Amino acid sequence: MIMMPTDFTSLRTWVSELVDVVMPPVCPVCGKAMLPGERTLCLQCRFELPRIAISDFTDNEIHTRLAMTARPITRASSVFHYLPASPHSRIVLATKYARRPDVGCSLLAEHARTLMSQGFFDGIDMIVPVPVHWIKRLRRGYNQSEELARAVSSVTSIPVISLISARRHGTQTHRSASLRLDNARSAFHVSPTAPDLADASHILLIDDVITTGATLIACRDIIHALSPATAVSVLTLALTRLR
Ligand SMILES: [Zn+2]
Repeated sequence: MIMMPTDFTSLRTWVSELVDVVMPPVCPVCGKAMLPGERTLCLQCRFELPRIAISDFTDNEIHTRLAMTARPITRASSVFHYLPASPHSRIVLATKYARRPDVGCSLLAEHARTLMSQGFFDGIDMIVPVPVHWIKRLRRGYNQSEELARAVSSVTSIPVISLISARRHGTQTHRSASLRLDNARSAFHVSPTAPDLADASHILLIDDVITTGATLIACRDIIHALSPATAVSVLTLALTRLR
């Protein structure tokens, strides 16, 4: 006879394990049922994840991508290279559109644990997610960058602050680099509930994917307009691979 646990925490674990036996979770990349011990991705897809091996946080390909203006980004890191329509692009699609932010959150949290041991978060006193407009958030059910920020906060214990708000704006597709940046700058403003940045020496911006970098540069400019001395670093789930 199967004995049901009596306390709530054990009961929840028991139900979760029972569901895993009846309906094993599937890998979001290949769609195959995951084996016991596999977490977030199956072992094969985890092995084939195009990870970004960054040993230098202060001068890497993300800095190059974000070098549109003179103000420097202090540290930068991403988990993997994103190539649209590739199998691993499903990680971004799941995180962003398919109500599975847990996929990206889990991978970014793992990455954050490694970064923490390397000093990436030293001196950072605030995590700021890139916002989405409230209509988009309502339609999607969540802001994936906020979810990712919370995942990093759970590893680092650095607080998440909603410093920036988003205005509704058009698509970035087919715009020139300078128009994209102008458009991104007009898309964000300081949140009415933003705290005073006088005490913030170093802010970490978190977003899902870096493509042109215009969004992150626009957010960084808002921070520097509020507090020119505050250092800004960047952490994302993915970096689009430019062909
Ligand atoms: Zn897989």
